[in-house]
Amino acid sequence: MTEVLKVSTPKHTCAVNITSEVRKVVGKSGVQDGLCIVYVPHTTACVFINEGADPDVLRDILYMSEKLIPWSDPNYEHAEGNSAAHIRSSIIGNSRVIPVSGGDLLLGTWESIFLAEFDGPRQRKVLVKIIKED
Ligand code: ZN
Repeated sequence: MTEVLKVSTPKHTCAVNITSEVRKVVGKSGVQDGLCIVYVPHTTACVFINEGADPDVLRDILYMSEKLIPWSDPNYEHAEGNSAAHIRSSIIGNSRVIPVSGGDLLLGTWESIFLAEFDGPRQRKVLVKIIKED
């Protein structure tokens, strides 16, 4: 089964914690053991897993993504003007696989799943697919 989550991103550059929504899909699936695939079908947004307890970690990740890949660069050629968003999303990646055990995500204590937005605010889709282990 695949469920499509709709996520509104509030700012141009931000990260939205989607862990509880992904957990709900796992619960609804009834799968006890297997894999959860989280896939973002966009070119300027992506998904990552990192600390969800201290919001400063997110702030630092976004700060450094902007510092390493600046929004403006005289050598960018993409006419839409959002090359940085494409590059940041490519580097972070548009999917993650999380083990499912005992009917729940096997995330680490401090881990959360984030949709990263680099060209918002927008309405984004996140595909969540649960695969049952034989
Ligand atoms: Zn573009």
